[in-house]
Amino acid sequence: MSKIQNIENQHTSGVYAKRELTIVRGEGATLYDEDGNAYIDCVGGQGAANLGHAHPKVVAAITEQAQKIISCPEMFYNDTRAALLEKLTSLAPEGMDRAFLSNSGTEAVEAAFKFARFSTKRTDIIATMRGFHGRSMGALSATWNKKYRAPFQPLVPGIKHVPYNKLEKLEAAIDDNTAAVILEAVQGEGGVHPGDAEYLLGAQKLCNERGAMLIMDEIQTGFGRTGKIFAIDRYGIKPDIMAVAKSMAGGFPMGATLLGENVAELDKGIHGSTFGGNPLAAAASLAALNALVDEKLPERAAELGSYLVEELKKIESPLIRGVRGMGLMVGIEIKKKVAPYLKELTARGVLALPAGMTVLRLLPPLVIEKEQLDEVVAVLKEVLAE
Ligand SMILES: *Cc1c(COP(=O)(O)O)cnc(C)c1O
Repeated sequence: MSKIQNIENQHTSGVYAKRELTIVRGEGATLYDEDGNAYIDCVGGQGAANLGHAHPKVVAAITEQAQKIISCPEMFYNDTRAALLEKLTSLAPEGMDRAFLSNSGTEAVEAAFKFARFSTKRTDIIATMRGFHGRSMGALSATWNKKYRAPFQPLVPGIKHVPYNKLEKLEAAIDDNTAAVILEAVQGEGGVHPGDAEYLLGAQKLCNERGAMLIMDEIQTGFGRTGKIFAIDRYGIKPDIMAVAKSMAGGFPMGATLLGENVAELDKGIHGSTFGGNPLAAAASLAALNALVDEKLPERAAELGSYLVEELKKIESPLIRGVRGMGLMVGIEIKKKVAPYLKELTARGVLALPAGMTVLRLLPPLVIEKEQLDEVVAVLKEVLAE
């Protein structure tokens, strides 16, 4: 344990399982520890670093905006916020012309539930098994993992879970009380499970027919990760509400709830956020969204993602059950617990994530170099050879 690690251990809340690694700097898809060692980053800020670390456009926008104004609540108009809202909604499906701005994914989901209940005058929400939607009480109620939920009962009533990718189960679950169905296009935390097109399109049709709202949680899949700006673009889905966050502002904290035509306008003052839509986050986000488009990062994710999955599939190891993914959101399912393998990868200069107990998840910044991916594959080959 280094001095820094001891201080954190002494004073932190203790809610996180920590790795014995102190990251002090990053550039692109490379991270550096306190001793100057370099790592290839396939954690990608847990999905927040699609643009890579210290992206020059994001750095410049934050610096410039900080010198103008940092805080400006939404009771006032602001030039940077207006520019961001225009850009963000231009990237969303047609008709999604409005957004509620917040500071995190869980807040984006909370707002989605409120808009759905308010608009439909119904109470219930249907979520999916293995789904993850955040950790505040409302979003947590829609999150599946019992470990996260059980200690904090009672949660919000009216929320139930159905199996993912099983349309008939969803069809049976939606009734006259259903305000919304919330789905990820690819289940991230739940193990990198892409949704079937028939399922997601079927869910949209069911919601439309029965007066419920379809909420797509694009918090992890959004902003280029899966090879399109949003994963729904791969399927041609048009949700009523979409929750985004993570890479929205180039790594700076920000979330948004995008609203379709059917979503009602809330009465003034019944929802809000002090920091929501602050100019600093808006500047970071505007720069990040512009860079995402200008540098064709979604296309890059599609290309590099296919390459990565192809290369990973070539690894011959009795440990590997399968490789799956979409764009640069990749999961390697193995026959053992992933934790020791993640540690071994770290020792060899590659940082990766788990998704559940047995899936090794790779979420590299979309700016990652092909040579870096080759190195990741080579190291994985060594580590998974048993
Ligand atoms: C990370 C994540 C969230 C929660 O976002 P926070 O910013 O951590 O609150 C919600 N849904 C999905 C799909 C996520 O990946």
